[in-house]
Order: sequence, then C-alpha cells, then structure tokens
Amino acid sequence: MLDLIIKNARLTDYDDLVDINVKDGHIHSIDSSENEPKVAQEDIENLAKQTFDAQGHFVCSGFYESHIHLDKACILDRCSIEDGDLNEAVEETGKAKEAFTEADVFARGCKVIEMAIKKGTVGLRTFVETDKKTELRSFEAIKRVRDKYAFAIDIEICAFAQDGLTTEPRTQELLQQALAQGADLIGGCPYKDEHPEQHIEMVFDLAQQYDVDVDFHLDFDLDPEGSSIPKLVEETIKRNYQGRVSIGHVTKLSAMDKAKRLEIAALLKLAKITLTVLPATDIYLNGRDYEALIPRGMVNANELAEMGLTTTISSNNILNAFTPYGDASLLRMANMYANIAQLSKDSEISDVFAMVTKNAADLLSQASEIKVGAPATLVVVETKDAVSAVRTVAQVLAGFKNGRQTFANAAATICYE
Ligand SMILES: [Zn+2]
Repeated sequence: MLDLIIKNARLTDYDDLVDINVKDGHIHSIDSSENEPKVAQEDIENLAKQTFDAQGHFVCSGFYESHIHLDKACILDRCSIEDGDLNEAVEETGKAKEAFTEADVFARGCKVIEMAIKKGTVGLRTFVETDKKTELRSFEAIKRVRDKYAFAIDIEICAFAQDGLTTEPRTQELLQQALAQGADLIGGCPYKDEHPEQHIEMVFDLAQQYDVDVDFHLDFDLDPEGSSIPKLVEETIKRNYQGRVSIGHVTKLSAMDKAKRLEIAALLKLAKITLTVLPATDIYLNGRDYEALIPRGMVNANELAEMGLTTTISSNNILNAFTPYGDASLLRMANMYANIAQLSKDSEISDVFAMVTKNAADLLSQASEIKVGAPATLVVVETKDAVSAVRTVAQVLAGFKNGRQTFANAAATICYE
C-alpha cells in the first residue's frame, strides 16, 4: 500500500497531469492521471493511506531560503529607525542583541519558521551571531528551532561574525565553540571589520579547521571601487575552497560599469563562488544619501547567471532595522527581484524561479529534482507553472516533506451570495 498519492499534479516537463505516488518518504512512481482508467474514490482510498487532489495545479519541489537571519527577526518594536541606513541597522540591532535571551530568540525563530513553512519553504540557511553580546544564547535557541521543525524544513546554521572578528577574540572563541557544537558552516562580514582582508583570512582559517563551507556578507555599498572580491577569490583558490564559498548582497557590483562588473564576475566564476541577492534589504538600505533618482543597489543576478555563475535570491531579514518588512515568502521575493531587475521574458523568469528553488537547494546540498526514487518533498502552488508562479506571486496551497503533509492553506474563493 502507498502512503500518499498526489493526484492531478502539473509538473514541469510533463504534458499531462500526473499522479505522484509516494511510499516510505520517496516518490515511488509518477503516472499520467489522464491515461489511467477511472477508478472509484473508495478504490483510490484503498491504494494509499492519504490522497491529495492537486486539481491541476503546479507542483514543485519547494523553496529554499539560502540566506536569512532568524536570530534577529521580528524586533522592529525594539529598534528606532531614523536614518534607515546600514550603519544604523547594525547599531540598533547591536543594542537589541544584548537583551536577547534563549527563550526570546526561540520564540521569534519559531514564528518566522512557521511563516516560511506556510509559504512552501522546505530548506533554509540561517546566520546566527555568536559574539560577546549574545554569547551562544541565540545559537542554542536556533538549534532547538531546527530540531522542532525538522519534520517540515531542513535548517542549516551558519555561525556568524557580524560585528567584527580581528579585534574581537571572544567572537573567535564563540565561533569555534559553535562549530564544535553543531554549526554547519561559518559566516563573515569583512565590511564591518577594521581589517577586512585579515577578517577574510581568519574566517577561512576557522572554516578549514572544522572543514566547513563559508558564507560572507560582502561589498554592501554603492562605491564601485574597493571590492573585497579579488581577495576572497585569491583565498578561495589558495585554500582549494572552490564550490564551498557563497556571498550575499554584493551591491557594489550594481554600481560598477558593465565591463568592470563582468571582470569581477569572471573571478567569481573561476572560484565557483555562489552569489545571493537580497532584494528586500538591498533596495531598502542603499542610496540613502540621494535626494532623487535613488539607485536600486541590487545586483542583476540574471546577468551573472548568463555568465555561468550560480545565483540565488533570499529574504535576509524579516521585520527588523535591516528590512522592516517580511513574510518569509520566496515567491514574493522572486517577484520583487524580477520587477526591480526589469525582467520580462519567460526564460528570464524561469531562471528567477531556479534561484529560489534548484540553485538554492544545490547550495544547501538538498535534492530538488522530482523523479522516481527522490524524496517526496513537494509543494502545490495555485497556478500552472513556475513562470506564472513568480509573475503572480501565486498562493502556495500545501506542502509535503519526505511524504508527510506539513501545511495547508485554503484557496481563496469569491462569495457571490
Ligand atoms: Zn544577511
């Protein structure tokens, strides 16, 4: 007997609607719904423990958030925002951080993860700050969040040095403790360190010590000069870390002329570095000193993808001084990005969908192909395909992780009478 049948699903690359048959958490078979002899409902119920009728809607393998901060989400009421720039966001969050308790971070982390699950997110990488302001309180809380929601979402924890490292010996100790106690990778932020190049070296030293990947917040300004990328690429290659490094923001690239940008992008490609665009934050914090024609300050990830780079799109922050908005919806983020990047063609929008699904799943080492034998992690979206999902920010109706249903959202209906 099957565990689950998702009937009448519309999959990319299939002409007909299909029934996805699930056993032991994996896809057992995929059959055409339309060619099958019609069987009575009670016979279908005898075939599987659960049936779900996708009613012709699009089914994908779920969304992956490659860069989010659960530890400092939902603290808008604790921050005073006057300038709205990056320095103020770091400063205000730093003040709030000192008062974080484990219970507080756990509660806010749970809140955001539940938002994400209900938007169809099945995997996520969260940064967690480990420094003298929080010690390991946030880290301990997020580990509990990870364990609590493991049935619905895979959470990767990145121990993160947000507020400098070279002059913060305690941060180094805490990063080491977090890596020894289950952090999956290490994150750095060279632009908030007095010695950016040394910061990059120290993060790599720790990464090598624990044999983990690295993820940097990088080049987060609109000055076309002074990129940290050449140093990052040099260290990546020197330490044989190609394919193990990712970077977020990199808004500096949007301020460079095209020739310079493509030159830098070629370096990133050489070192196989993945780039994550964070549209909600990038366009909110940048360009605060302009009075008119405010620059968007967001990298066009499609341009870089065309050059062969792997790119992703992610939410970054939810309801704090870095991003005073947020619903943890990756389809909304993809739509926002595509609109700002002035995209229109189906092929471009299809690439954007990959940035919140396949590309991000690859970064998190998660399988995302729907095929026989693959994990039955599937999300039903109220639309016909990936492109229309992004264009319309389609409603996500239901999700399954390893064959188990994890959420349901009711489709909206019109009440005529
Ligand atoms: Zn971030």
